[in-house]
Amino acid sequence: MPLSLMTLSLVDSPVTLKEGLKILERDDYRCQYCGLDGRASFENALTMRVDFVVPRARKGKKEPSNLVACCTPCNTIKGTRVYGNFEEAKAFVLKKREELRKNWESKTARPLAKSARA
Ligand SMILES: [Zn+2]
Repeated sequence: MPLSLMTLSLVDSPVTLKEGLKILERDDYRCQYCGLDGRASFENALTMRVDFVVPRARKGKKEPSNLVACCTPCNTIKGTRVYGNFEEAKAFVLKKREELRKNWESKTARPLAKSARA
């Protein structure tokens, strides 16, 4: 299992190691928002978290139905905003990621001719 105990101890949530592992196992170590595979590399494993679909700050319960495997970027993007359901939260996160990607691309884009020159 690529996810070490040390990795999981970084999970910033009140779920216990055992509870967290159960959720990650159920979700196959994949971020339920963007699909990032937490087993693909150590770096990916490090980003895996357990997300409260309805945030704790909004009285979200610590129940499997309210918990999903999630990568840190998606967790950050999702924030503590309240969504009607998981699908709504997912749609928001994916839309926001796309906006951020376009923004990033526009700032990092270089003319092809320049990179070909080496
Ligand atoms: Zn993600």
